[in-house]
Amino acid sequence: MEEGAQGPLDDSLLLVAEEVRACKKCPLSLARTNAVPGEGPPDSKVVLIGEGPGRNEDLQGRPFVGAAGKQLEALLSDAGLSRADVYISNVVKCRPPENRCPSGAEAEACHPYLERQLRLLRPRIVVLLGDTALKRFLPDESLSSAHGRMFEQGGVSLFPTYHPAAMIYNRALEGVIREDFRALGGLLSGLERKD
Ligand code: URA
Ligand code: SF4
Repeated sequence: MEEGAQGPLDDSLLLVAEEVRACKKCPLSLARTNAVPGEGPPDSKVVLIGEGPGRNEDLQGRPFVGAAGKQLEALLSDAGLSRADVYISNVVKCRPPENRCPSGAEAEACHPYLERQLRLLRPRIVVLLGDTALKRFLPDESLSSAHGRMFEQGGVSLFPTYHPAAMIYNRALEGVIREDFRALGGLLSGLERKD
């Protein structure tokens, strides 16, 4: 197949997923049970980007199916959304051992898959869940000041917030994250009114 600058010219989400499952571009391929390409409807207006698969995600090959997934579903309902409305992806598609943060080199190696997904999905809003996703797109920002605000970048609207798992180990953040998701819901209804 002919290659464009960012992937095959005749690209699709299925093709990205197929390539991710066979990928050996970084050492995270060595320890994975299953790669986790991402999932959701191809016409999703909202894309969520987490850090990387955890243990349950690695076992099932699906994003946010463990404890963080439960938190995420509750937060989505604060935004008037459900899992069926959104596409969920991650900075890295293979589980970092012991759930460590992915290295810069691993995130960089995996980034073309995320770029292709975003190019195919063309979402209205990309929600960056936590610091790893934030740093990938907005390296100069910090979560404490960037969360809950919208950033325009190359025709894409980025909305950083905390990672849902942060709610589990830092109860004080729960109100802040829920407030961000309510704000996200408000931004989405604003966009719909303009359509
Ligand atoms: N945490 C993430 O960042 N991504 C997942 O898919 C699951 C948990
Ligand atoms: Fe490939 Fe990404 Fe998995 Fe690394 S994390 S092996 S780049 S799919």
